Amino acid sequence: MTGLYKTLIIGSGAIGASIAYHLSNYNERVLVVDQGFPTEGTSGATQAWVWVHTKQPNFYGEFSMYSAELYQSLKKRLGMEFELDRTGGLSLIFEKSRLKEVESLIAAQQERGIKVELLTRQETLRKEPEVNPNIVGATYSALDGHLNPFRLTRSLIEDATNNGMEFSFYNKVVAVKRNNEMIYEVETEKGTFLAEQVVIAGGPWSKMIGQMLNVNIPIKLVKGQIIVTEPLKPLLNHIVSGVRQTNNGELLIGYSKEEDGFNRNTSFNIVGETARYAQKIVPKLKKVNIVRTFAGIRSMPKDGLPILGEVPSNPGLYVAVTHSGITLAPIVGLLMSELLREGSTSFPLDDYLVSRFKSENELLREDLQ
Ligand SMILES: Cc1cc2nc3c(=O)[nH]c(=O)nc-3n(C[C@H](O)[C@H](O)[C@H](O)COP(=O)(O)OP(=O)(O)OC[C@H]3O[C@@H](n4cnc5c(N)ncnc54)[C@H](O)[C@@H]3O)c2cc1C
Repeated sequence: MTGLYKTLIIGSGAIGASIAYHLSNYNERVLVVDQGFPTEGTSGATQAWVWVHTKQPNFYGEFSMYSAELYQSLKKRLGMEFELDRTGGLSLIFEKSRLKEVESLIAAQQERGIKVELLTRQETLRKEPEVNPNIVGATYSALDGHLNPFRLTRSLIEDATNNGMEFSFYNKVVAVKRNNEMIYEVETEKGTFLAEQVVIAGGPWSKMIGQMLNVNIPIKLVKGQIIVTEPLKPLLNHIVSGVRQTNNGELLIGYSKEEDGFNRNTSFNIVGETARYAQKIVPKLKKVNIVRTFAGIRSMPKDGLPILGEVPSNPGLYVAVTHSGITLAPIVGLLMSELLREGSTSFPLDDYLVSRFKSENELLREDLQ
């Protein structure tokens, strides 16, 4: 691992791994450095839905839809099976008063070609007999699905490695600077590496990495707690309002959002609230055992939208930080690799550029998530 790298990626979660995998088409020297093991970050502590249908604003829904489509070809190309299952997704509606809001969501999504339907109570129960019958209906889209994030990340890394990309794990980046020849010097615990381009794909740690270069990456850390049930016989046909059934039969359930720094402890209160809400969605869950809980940290950009592209003040420095990084890994990997190698992208990134943040006081739009 010596000499000059074309690109050095900091972070080997789903986002960094996908960028490395897509860069391996270009036959140039790429190094990915991670302070730990690839799924130690958020990519190993996630619900891992590939989710499209309620994503707002609708241009972001469209971006998510294209990424979900790309998974179909990624599934064929990657060497390892990553349990991608396009089950379709349901969001239950309990109050009649919400129907107007739901109808405008559907109209907005349809403007962008996102297929979402409003199902009646009977139609919902026909699709998903175990959900609470006290619903007024549900939104449904066949575009949604889920996957195994451990296998996805591993398979991206394995294929990237087979194609010549280099990885250095358990190796924290401690400083980054640009020298007089406009080359980045990336100091790590195992030595200093030189690269023409650096990509910050550090998930929740990205803000700290940006600070090494005086670049503000405006993200908030938002913890989510997930409960995992004992394995059950097939119970749900779709992802339903925060509940998904994995291939081995466990249910993963989560809704919570807390700002608590990097603290990944779970708490009795939130686990209890999550379990109670899940019983409202699927009443049968009252009799099901919880076997473990875990928490992950969302890297939530201040306006909720991905932060992608080159940092205007630092040529050669790129950022790829987003929430919903499991859904978006294929499109972010593809477009970032195009940007890094060709200087332009096959789909416009204008809505997601770093330069949209003029100051720390940007309007918050996270309620649109
Ligand atoms: C509870 C919860 C539920 C979620 N559910 C979904 C969902 O259903 N669908 C969806 O699409 N998304 C979901 N997400 C979000 C999704 O999991 C993340 O957006 C995605 O995993 C982010 O991937 P990443 O590669 O950007 O970050 P990470 O996986 O966190 O990877 C960042 C990597 O950078 C490394 N790193 C950091 N600092 C340094 C350093 N100084 N030196 C070297 N390496 C460093 C870390 O070790 C880490 O491996 C959820 C998140 C949470 C918390």
